[in-house]
Amino acid sequence: MTEKVFYQDSYQKTLQSEVIEVLDDAVILAATIFYPLGGGQPGDTGRLTIGGRDYRVSDTRFAQDRKGILHYLEGGDCTAIRVGDVVDMEIDWERRHRLMRMHTSMHLVCSLITAQATGGAVGETSSRLDFDLQGQVIDKQQLSDDLNALVTRALPVSIGSISDEELEQNPDLVRTMSVQPPRGAGSVRTITIEDTDYQPCGGTHVRNTAEIGELVVTSLKNKGAQNKRINLALVEP
Ligand SMILES: [Zn+2]
Repeated sequence: MTEKVFYQDSYQKTLQSEVIEVLDDAVILAATIFYPLGGGQPGDTGRLTIGGRDYRVSDTRFAQDRKGILHYLEGGDCTAIRVGDVVDMEIDWERRHRLMRMHTSMHLVCSLITAQATGGAVGETSSRLDFDLQGQVIDKQQLSDDLNALVTRALPVSIGSISDEELEQNPDLVRTMSVQPPRGAGSVRTITIEDTDYQPCGGTHVRNTAEIGELVVTSLKNKGAQNKRINLALVEP
């Protein structure tokens, strides 16, 4: 079981922990700030220092049981690493911060489109989000302008959680969510952008929409009869 520090604090760049499991090409740590691939957001990259030796982390993924988190080491050589070894870790912060800015901007897109999102991928400088538009018409320039207006309003972004029980008792609340919450885990983590968007999400986000900076909708594409793909980019990566 890995303690997932990134769920509480998306801004922590370094952490000391210890190795709890060693695989052929990856290690599992007691606690981590590395975000594992999920919810459309790529896994973190960075560096681990173990026993005076530096290792590049090329990808981060959940273990099959989703309790542990696998830090994949470039070159895949874990032979010198032992359970109990102390680890100093550092994420590639500039990359992560761009992913946070992009992920929060995807939630802004969700707030401006009434249709259901059907898929998406957060990238470092550009991202895409697919919608089953059900007839809603989108104008590229208007969407860019509306997104930038939300960035300029400097809206606070906060992390919360809601239990399955509360979800059950508040169908109206569920209806206001732009993405339907998964059930059965006991509770789900939520992300709220003040006055704008509320949805279940496990990703890492900026604290305030002002941090995103200027956005541009680069293209709108038809993907199938119903699906529309919105491509979005940071103007200043
Ligand atoms: Zn999200």
